[in-house]
Amino acid sequence: MSPHVLILGGTTEARELAAALAARPGTRVTTSLAGRVARPGALPGEVRVGGFGGADGLAHWLREHRVDALVDATHPFAETITANAARAAAATGVTALVLRRPGWQAGPGDRWHPVASLAAAADLLPRLGSRVFLTTGRLGLAAFARLTDLHFVVRSVEAPEPPLPPQTRVLLARGPFTVAGESALLREHRVDVLVTKDSGGAATAAKLTAARQLALPVVVVRRPALPEGVVSVPDVAGVLDRLAAGPAPFRRAAGDLSPE
Ligand code: NAP
Repeated sequence: MSPHVLILGGTTEARELAAALAARPGTRVTTSLAGRVARPGALPGEVRVGGFGGADGLAHWLREHRVDALVDATHPFAETITANAARAAAATGVTALVLRRPGWQAGPGDRWHPVASLAAAADLLPRLGSRVFLTTGRLGLAAFARLTDLHFVVRSVEAPEPPLPPQTRVLLARGPFTVAGESALLREHRVDVLVTKDSGGAATAAKLTAARQLALPVVVVRRPALPEGVVSVPDVAGVLDRLAAGPAPFRRAAGDLSPE
């Protein structure tokens, strides 16, 4: 029987992994989406949408659908599903990997202020500026709602969830973004401080370069820690290597493809 990989998705890397696995004859791949985005793009392989019902529900799904390997390729800040995946893998004995892109690193000229949470970012902001470019996503913005004296430009893919700070302008846009575009945006809105999660990846990194060039402070929300004991790899190639060297069904599938 073909080995079955379940990818917990919602990221570019998850999409790339699904494409790489779907292109391998003899591997079945299913991507799971939370269902937050109204119209997700087409994905190679099978797709399922919606929560599993916690770690127990995910464990049940893994057994019911005879999953051989689980790859958690969710966003670095999707903390709950990552914890559930680790628990479900431990409960079922299914091989599990976390595909986590590396975080961003500050370089010369950067004025970064790392913080542990959105609430900590909100506490710090009034000391750093008064015109904020807030790029932490559409959820959790209630943390900033009490900052009534600050002006916010909020950018997200879909409309942000209220409550928002009273002086907020919303820009709906999806990356990738360019340095020239980000610089123009920062100037146009007279931004004097940027807030971001440490999402990592190239698609949304241009704002950091633009902030450096304009000598703006950047509040960087650190990533939540991964659960104890999980195996994390930084890229799609790393996942494919681990699978080929890992569970028997994948070794067999890889063997089918190797030259005699
Ligand atoms: P979360 O807080 O970690 O998860 C909340 C619940 O949503 C989970 O307990 C699970 O429900 C369900 N869920 C999350 N990801 C799922 C998936 N891939 N497939 C099926 N169910 C899933 O997650 P979140 O931060 O809301 O993120 C939701 C999705 O958006 C993730 O897939 C993530 O990759 C993507 N995303 C998140 C961010 C971010 O900043 N957090 C940014 C970009 C993309 P049950 O307990 O019922 O299983």
